Amino acid sequence: MSQYLDSVMETVIKRNAGEAEFHQAVKEVLETIAPVLEKRPEFVKAKIVDRIVEPERQIVFRVPWVDDNGDVQVNRGFRVQFNSAIGPYKGGIRLHPSVYLGIIKFLGFEQIFKNALTTTPIGGGKGGSDFDPKGKSDREVMSFCQSFMNEMFRHVGPDTDVPAGDIGTGAREIGYMFGQYKRLTNTFTGVLTGKGLTWGGSLARKEATGFGLVYYATRMLQDAGTDWNGKKVVISGSGNVAIYANQKATSLGAKVIAMSDSNGYIVDEAGINLDVIKDIKEVRRARIKEYADIVPGSQYVEGCRGIWSVPCDVALPCATQNELNGEEAAILVSNGCKFLAEGANMPSTPEAIATLQGNGVAFGPAKAANAGGVSTSSLEMTQNSIRLSWTFDEVDQKLHGIMNAIYDQCTAAAEAYGEKGNLAAGANIAGFLKVAEAMLAQGVV
Ligand code: NDP
Repeated sequence: MSQYLDSVMETVIKRNAGEAEFHQAVKEVLETIAPVLEKRPEFVKAKIVDRIVEPERQIVFRVPWVDDNGDVQVNRGFRVQFNSAIGPYKGGIRLHPSVYLGIIKFLGFEQIFKNALTTTPIGGGKGGSDFDPKGKSDREVMSFCQSFMNEMFRHVGPDTDVPAGDIGTGAREIGYMFGQYKRLTNTFTGVLTGKGLTWGGSLARKEATGFGLVYYATRMLQDAGTDWNGKKVVISGSGNVAIYANQKATSLGAKVIAMSDSNGYIVDEAGINLDVIKDIKEVRRARIKEYADIVPGSQYVEGCRGIWSVPCDVALPCATQNELNGEEAAILVSNGCKFLAEGANMPSTPEAIATLQGNGVAFGPAKAANAGGVSTSSLEMTQNSIRLSWTFDEVDQKLHGIMNAIYDQCTAAAEAYGEKGNLAAGANIAGFLKVAEAMLAQGVV
């Protein structure tokens, strides 16, 4: 079987030259599904794996817009519609200068399995642009978002493809894109999630990825016979996922002592004051450095990667891909870290994962642990379809139930395929099985 999977991997590398992040994401999944293919030869015959690594559709387009000086700027836009076997494509839009096709494909590929785990009917997709919203005026961001939607509107729709936020795409950007979609199509539909509460958004969507991450990690702690009480937690990033992971972990008795942005990190042994972080990051869109000027006793350290040298019991990487390497994982281990759950997508390198798992650190993989965001987006789609809004508690309870179901699927699949306790293998196997069954049933399409 490994020969067959090696040959699929070789084709992926050849066909998608130079897309290192995409190769990494595919390899991580292929390495864990051999036991499934042994038991299910019909998947091999139907070439499910060969098909699942090839996006159904990739759209690459020009995004021209005018800046505040009156100069024309040109960015590149992407939408990768990866797999629609179990529902309409669903996945966020990343706006960051590092974005290129390989990043969008890695994210879209991960999204297939993540969305399958959510227990809701959504396929996998992802989009974005190399546009950097940082430092742009609201008018410039609007100009970009409208131009982006001028192309995207042809390819998305409430029953076709439903984008959402990601790095650099928050409520402001979703608003501008939604407005333009509505104008172009003369329809008011749930074509995007992460919308404002007065125009179709869901309560608890903003909190969902961070809260869901903590619900998932709670199960990891419980399985080890412990809980959040008194645990020291380090969270990288200070964006949407990081902030609400902090809020939920703190409410359950943990002490979050470090957070970061792409410039550096802060340490506050007294427990980070989240109101200060929200003011800096959500209200003023400023740098985390300011925290140390505002909160006595805290300190700021330049350079974001050093955050992993802060001793902790639980680490929650919530910034970006490959933000934790093998050496940094070894430092976490030697400082006594016992749990790591991924809030960001693919934040740990393969070396980091091997180091953590090899040293008895409980490891919660992104495609399961951070699935709370897309799950709640799916709940937003449901509310849009039935034209009703649920209360915060109703959505939060459903989210909690989904995260528990995801955790149960991971542990059950790992055990059924001889990898007891390996949540990463369990997530890949459970997600793959659901999509593979659907692809098989739908024939060669
Ligand atoms: P935000 O844009 O809200 O925040 C991103 C945070 O990460 C910021 O603090 C940012 O710092 C930091 N960051 C970005 N790039 C880098 C880098 N190269 N090095 C170090 N830090 C960096 O994004 P989100 O919180 O929404 O997303 C964070 C991660 O979670 C991403 O991997 C995303 O794909 C994933 N995710 C998000 C979901 C969601 O619902 N939002 C759902 C599931 C996964 P700075 O301000 O300096 O750029």
